[in-house]
This record gives sequence, structure tokens and C-alpha cells, in this order.
Amino acid sequence: MKLAVYGKGGIGKSTASCNISIALAKRGKKVLQIGCDPKHDSTFTLTGFLIPTIIDTLQSKDYHYEDVWPEDVIYQGYGNVDCVEAGGPPAGAGCGGYVVGETVKLLKELNAFFEYDIILFDVLGDVVCGGFAAPLNYSDYCIIVTDNGFDALFASNRIATSVREKSRVHPLRLAGLIGNRTSKRDLIDKYIEACPMPVLEVIPLIEDIRISRVKGKTLFEMAETDPSISYICDAYLSIADALLSEPEGVVPRELGDRELFSLLSDF
Ligand code: ADP
Ligand code: MG
Repeated sequence: MKLAVYGKGGIGKSTASCNISIALAKRGKKVLQIGCDPKHDSTFTLTGFLIPTIIDTLQSKDYHYEDVWPEDVIYQGYGNVDCVEAGGPPAGAGCGGYVVGETVKLLKELNAFFEYDIILFDVLGDVVCGGFAAPLNYSDYCIIVTDNGFDALFASNRIATSVREKSRVHPLRLAGLIGNRTSKRDLIDKYIEACPMPVLEVIPLIEDIRISRVKGKTLFEMAETDPSISYICDAYLSIADALLSEPEGVVPRELGDRELFSLLSDF
């Protein structure tokens, strides 16, 4: 199963991705997480450091794919989750879609792409140009991370549009939204009433999640020494279980921009 996690920058995609990847691994799946954000810190809490990116590695080998070994680009993270960072195009040049394409091509050459039960793409979703939508071409399900605010829901609606568009050519579904860093969900509920889609989980702002990033550890690793936070891991396990049940999901019918503005405004 291939999953693509999207959402506005800084919304908590990588945090959700790392913990969902571990939750899936705990359910016995062989998991690869591919960071597709030029920030290349998707897998940081899994490995505890910034692993070399595919693009940097390919550049250092003059794009001779045959000189790249799996251990150059695939790093084992916490909970046996394998980790890859695609890296980004040079700032102001190139295309995120090209980077993702090269990453998938290299993983296929290394016979790694079909070796996993689950591949999770963690993707920057602010600007859903064709390039950033590329991981959807490889995915069975898209998952959107949002908070209860206008900007993240606006980005979500753009991502929903991309899912609808891509689903015309391959069997892609939107598994649903993960509300993050919010205990209120009134705007999320307004949005899904107008644009129906499941809500997989709503995770509040939790200090231990912020700390996990600073410590370079996932919540699962922290819970080993502090069982009081295992309730947060349960939220990620419940998302993993929902995905493993192969939910029907939806092909969303996104809102028009103006419709969304008036829906989420008070006037
Ligand atoms: P993204 O991948 O979407 O850019 P990150 O996952 O890197 O975002 O999260 C950005 C920051 O927000 C990190 O420092 C992370 O620890 C913090 N964070 C994410 N989710 C939560 C949460 N539910 N509560 C508190 N802090 C969070
Ligand atoms: Mg990220």
C-alpha cells in the first residue's frame, strides 16, 4: 500500500508520518518512509539525524545510478522503519516532481520499491503545482494534515483538488483528514460538511509532541521511558489500523476558492 501525507508547511506532516510509520511497523508491516519535502527533515525523529538525500547522493556520483548502493540512501530508523529523503531541487530552480521521479526510479533500480508492504510519502503541500502532486501518481491513499484554521484548510482544499484530478487516471482515494495541533474542530467540521471526507483523528497541541522534535525521537521511542505518553501513540495506532482496513475513502469534490472563503468567514 502506498500512502501520501500532504498538508500546509509546518502543520505536522512529518510528525504524523513518522509516528504512523512506526504504528504500521508495529502491526507487522515492512515500512519505508520517503521524505519529499526540500526541508529534508521528514525522517529526523526516526533516525535522530539528517540523512543524506537522494539528490545529494546522485549528484556526488554524477548521476551514475549503478554506483549507488541501497545503504547510501536507505537508512534504518526507529522501529525498523526504513527512511529515505528525496531532497529538493536547488532553491529557485528545478521541480519537486522531478526529484520524486528520480527517487522512485532509483529505488526501483535498487529493487527496493516493491520490497515494502507500505511506502509512505511525506510531501510538502502548500503549492500543489504538478510537481508537488507527483507522489499522488504512486499512491493508493492520500491523507491530509490540517489544523482548525483557514490557511491549512485552504491548502487541504487544494490538495483535495489534486486528488480528484489524479483519481481520474488511477485508483487514488482520499483516506481523510488528520486534525493536528488543535482541540477545536468547528472549522474542520464546517469544511467536511461542505466537502465530505472522513476525519481519521484529531490530535491536540501537546507539549510532548513539540519536545519529540527537539529530542529527535518519535513519541513511540519517548513512550519507552515515559509510559504516560503512550495515549498519544494510541492515536497514531488507531490511524494505522484505519488505513490497514483499506477504507473506502472518497474522491473529494473540492470547493471553489470563493465558496471556501465565505464558508470559513464569520461575515
Ligand atoms: P511539517 O512536516 O508539516 O512541516 P512538522 O511535523 O515538522 O511539520 O511539525 C512542525 C513542528 O510542530 C515540530 O516542531 C513538531 O514537533 C510540532 N508539532 C507537530 N504536531 C504537534 C502537536 N500535535 N502538538 C505540538 N507540537 C506539534
Ligand atoms: Mg515535514
